[in-house]
Amino acid sequence: MPRTAFLHPTTPPAESDFLNLVEGRGALVFDDSGRDYVDALASLWYCNIGHGRDEMADAIAAQARRLAGFHTFERYTNPPAEAICERIAELAPFPGARVFLTCSGSEAVETAVKLARITHSLAGDPDRTIVVSREPSYHGVTFAGTTLTGLPAFHEHIGPLVPDLVRVPKDDVEALGALFEQQGDRIAAVIAEPVVGAPGVYPPEPGYLEAVRALCDEHGALLILDEVICAFGRLGTWWGGQHYGVVADLCTFAKGVTSGYQPLGGVVVSRRVLDVLESAPGFSLKHGHTYSGHPTACAAALTNLDIIEREGLLDRSLHVAKRLGDGLDTLVDGERILEIRAAGAMFGVGLGVHVDAVDVREAMIERGVIARPIGGVTVAFCPPLIITDEQIDRCVDALGGAVEAVA
Ligand code: PLP
Repeated sequence: MPRTAFLHPTTPPAESDFLNLVEGRGALVFDDSGRDYVDALASLWYCNIGHGRDEMADAIAAQARRLAGFHTFERYTNPPAEAICERIAELAPFPGARVFLTCSGSEAVETAVKLARITHSLAGDPDRTIVVSREPSYHGVTFAGTTLTGLPAFHEHIGPLVPDLVRVPKDDVEALGALFEQQGDRIAAVIAEPVVGAPGVYPPEPGYLEAVRALCDEHGALLILDEVICAFGRLGTWWGGQHYGVVADLCTFAKGVTSGYQPLGGVVVSRRVLDVLESAPGFSLKHGHTYSGHPTACAAALTNLDIIEREGLLDRSLHVAKRLGDGLDTLVDGERILEIRAAGAMFGVGLGVHVDAVDVREAMIERGVIARPIGGVTVAFCPPLIITDEQIDRCVDALGGAVEAVA
């Protein structure tokens, strides 16, 4: 493809070799020559219900015809925004929740960080401004999200990062404990993905998230679970925290809430935060996006959640987890494929040093499967939850064949 006007995200700017995808159906996507590929990462960890659903297109079209967009600042609301917040609050991992809506996961993270600082400030503790994240981790690309993201490449060339956002190694309870010992009265929140996703799929060590929760409680900090990948069925539960038995104070979400049919994200807010916000005299939340509560995006989310419930996709996720996990396990040979890191229906395949993940990605595309290479050493899988058994097996065969071909 010749270079076009489209400056692609997370891509070398001079790149011009793109796969032009024109259609999707279920777990398959089709390129402009009509060739099909199994979408082994649900696009970018989001298309839980699969592509090409007429029901979604109809819901979006109906809302677009009725009232495509209207803002929700100050005096305005609309039925789909009210309904999706009510629905998500009912599903929330804590009682009495309310929901703030954004357009993306990055904006959700930004919102959660601000809400944590605002809550402490309103509660008379304005010096609690530190938010702690982990390395590696991924929390998006706005400035707070970038600073929190524990991947050095995202920090290059952009000058100073946001102050008071600090990182500790993941799964290191001692390091986090030491930080709390030194600065506990200044820590507003800890943010953690239930499963570290985009850096390569790293499930938490047993007991780690519980220990983080306990440290937050001991020192008066809030726990933010960044559920942008894990929520809405990926781990067989509505929320990743539920899978690990950990309850947060704020949960960010995006991706699976609409399966990507429209851009939508948000933060589920617990009573611990709401009680402070709602009772602060004269306080108004000076934070919100033009498209917060966008009716067409919210209509898509409502239909997406209908489909997840009606088709039992939380349970289906466990089936996908087992069949794909069993298949990937058969490929581990201690040399070319070293390990399979798994949590629910998300997988990181750890490659040996002589196997390059980008080469594997290319060889898999030749075999009709799109998976994601990460950091040269991992190939990630996170397929639509409606993927068929035959398509799961095709993913496993394609990985096996690709690794064989490039090693
Ligand atoms: N948080 C997590 C855990 C993510 O995985 C992502 C995206 O992959 C984000 C935040 C950022 O979301 P978005 O790309 O929608 O801004």
